[in-house]
Amino acid sequence: MPKPSPARPSLVGELDAAVREVEPRIVAIRHHLHRYPELSNREFRTAELIARHLRELDIEVRERIAHTGVLGILRGRRPGPVVAVRADMDALPVTEETDLPYRSTERAIVDGQEVGVMHACGHDVHMAVALGLATVLAPRRDRLAGTVLFVFQPCEEGAPAGETGGAWLMLNEGVFDEIRPSAIFGLHTDSEMPVGTVGYTPGPTNASSDNFRIRLVGRSAHAAWPHLGVDPIVMGAQAVLALQTIRSRTLSPYEPSVISVTKFHGGVRDNIGPDEVVLEGTVRLFDEAVRDRVEQRFHEILDGIARAAGGQYELEYIRRNPVNVNDEALLARMMPSLEAAVGRENVHQKLPWMAAEDFGWFAREVPALFLHLGTLAPGTTSGNHHTPTFRADDSAIAVGMRLLGRMVVDYVEQA
Ligand SMILES: [Zn+2]
Ligand SMILES: [Zn+2]
Repeated sequence: MPKPSPARPSLVGELDAAVREVEPRIVAIRHHLHRYPELSNREFRTAELIARHLRELDIEVRERIAHTGVLGILRGRRPGPVVAVRADMDALPVTEETDLPYRSTERAIVDGQEVGVMHACGHDVHMAVALGLATVLAPRRDRLAGTVLFVFQPCEEGAPAGETGGAWLMLNEGVFDEIRPSAIFGLHTDSEMPVGTVGYTPGPTNASSDNFRIRLVGRSAHAAWPHLGVDPIVMGAQAVLALQTIRSRTLSPYEPSVISVTKFHGGVRDNIGPDEVVLEGTVRLFDEAVRDRVEQRFHEILDGIARAAGGQYELEYIRRNPVNVNDEALLARMMPSLEAAVGRENVHQKLPWMAAEDFGWFAREVPALFLHLGTLAPGTTSGNHHTPTFRADDSAIAVGMRLLGRMVVDYVEQA
């Protein structure tokens, strides 16, 4: 690996001081983003703020990718590879219950219901880190090798009904067609890890997520003469239990997976057997081949139950996010950068998350590394992600900037 020549000293040496210098301004931006969160595919003011900030840094900007996505292109003046940094932009329909001075009081209508809106997954921190890194690198582009793409991605949490969005749509709209990166980095806040620590998982790091909707059709009957009908409640009960045997009897015990039935709807009163029930739920796993097998077993099991009862079934099995896979060679290559940025004792291997992450779409396109950024400050508590008491400490933002900064600079200089 060629080292940068002494005539052009590496940017690495000045990253820490540069991060300290921009930190107050970036924390203020984070507070603004947190105070004014926007839901998936509705990140209009968020996108405006990002594009304005990037333009002020004299970074090329492409807007309205996948509705509200923003791409910043920072071209270094030295030859080198292209590397992308991704930050997701959307908030969640959660009503904030923290005592933070910059807590959200925003509200929105979702499915006809008024709800609070909150950055309850820490995406405001992800955006602040990426904007901060752009703020650090842009004035130093004379000495920057290669090109850094800042990918601000909307709609990570899932599109509203009837819409598409997120990483998949950004790729579909050609976000990497103009300039293709040879690696992509992403961070996720982790409310269980202390500030200053970083977590990584080799290989699959987030489960895939699929949704299913099952309609079991029987025939209505008086509840006192159930033999005159076909009872879909019994079919549904059998289905809930039988679907669990996919995990326990079809898949290897070494294959982590979850099948959860989360809705079971049917019937109107106690003395009428209904004519149908609807079950919905989610499947999470870590291997695309296993995914095919699970969907096939759903059909076989439901077909068996429906036939035995004399009823019918319909299955919608919707594949949402793919497995998010960390590139093991890239991880090995970047490990010294992780350790240099936060200290070897603060880099921890983690179990993969059963929660999905649509960064997995990017990881299918280019070698990817997706890391966990500790956001729990000493002496504080945080609710879990997606809950009203979730909080990510400001001090994690500088850690994120140092971490991604070190990774990006090492990557482009060592190519
Ligand atoms: Zn989330
Ligand atoms: Zn998230």
